Amino acid sequence: MKDSHGRVIDYLRISLTDRCNFRCIYCMPEEGVCPMSHDEILSLEEIERLVAIAAAHGIKSVRLTGGEPLVRKGVEDLVASITKMEGIENVSMTTNGVLLPKMADDLKRAGLNRVNISLDTLDPQQFQEITRVGKLEDTLAGIDAALEVGFSPVKVNAVTVRRLDQDFLGFAKLSIPRPLHVRFIEYMPIGQEAADGLAGWGKEDVISSKELLDRINADAVAAGMEPLMPADKNPLGWGPAKYMAFPDAQGTVGFISPLSRHFCGECNRLRLTADGKIRPCLFSDTEYDVRAALRGGTDEEVSQVLLEALGAKPDEHHDKVGTERNMSAIGG
Ligand code: SAM
Ligand code: SF4
Repeated sequence: MKDSHGRVIDYLRISLTDRCNFRCIYCMPEEGVCPMSHDEILSLEEIERLVAIAAAHGIKSVRLTGGEPLVRKGVEDLVASITKMEGIENVSMTTNGVLLPKMADDLKRAGLNRVNISLDTLDPQQFQEITRVGKLEDTLAGIDAALEVGFSPVKVNAVTVRRLDQDFLGFAKLSIPRPLHVRFIEYMPIGQEAADGLAGWGKEDVISSKELLDRINADAVAAGMEPLMPADKNPLGWGPAKYMAFPDAQGTVGFISPLSRHFCGECNRLRLTADGKIRPCLFSDTEYDVRAALRGGTDEEVSQVLLEALGAKPDEHHDKVGTERNMSAIGG
């Protein structure tokens, strides 16, 4: 599948639910979120049907996300069915990791290829401030579980926000003793709160990847360590990150810069929201309703919506920030 700008689109990110067992401050408000109703949310069968149709059009990779994908009942069955579909080469998941100690084994057996675990700090107090309700030890246990059952690679995604004053070197060092691929992701002012300025955060909280790399390396040298150098090879499931590594480290350190370095030219993805909207671009509120077609339409009608969304992929996000939906509803 090629879009109108000549990019090959072979990656679908699916939000399984807008619900979550955390309330991260950059992702969703503490309260007042009106969760999608049972009827609004696509059933697992509807998602399966869409993936099969998308695979026939050339989608090869699927990432399950949310909200928290592991709170969606039946997620293991969905993984098992998608991984067996013709044309689907890999199925991955982005999770806060809390439920992995219970579920990692089943997910691995169901055929899940890779996991990305979100974690922004190693400080228990700061972890609680960021997630509002989470415990650091739970996410750390999720990382242990992911490594134990043999997911490879295991990536740890950290959102960087200037005002949070995170210990970036301490975090990057997670990549040294174990095969963990730490990825720093620029904070994106997304969601209505960011658009309205209600969250009080804005572009000034975005730390560019260049500044971050310079900071980590300056701190590393001050601590008597060798600085990060370009990694020999990228971890599997490359994506839009630039990878570095400490000498002799088992893992890597990646930098994802949606704002400071557009990677729109390399964009290969479409997004499906939990309520059945295909979103051609994370930063654009233009969505294509595929739910109606999935509930009563033919496969051709579903394909038509998919192709319409594909045709509407913008060339880039033109520095637009703020979206009507929060990240938890879009599927980050
Ligand atoms: N609950 C899962 C998790 O946290 O991994 C999956 C959904 S979450 C929306 C997916 C990713 O989006 C997480 O890595 C999260 O840190 C990131 N994210 C959420 N809001 C963000 C924002 N405003 N800017 C950058 N990344 C954000
Ligand atoms: Fe939940 Fe993930 Fe959003 Fe945090 S980032 S509130 S864990 S969906």
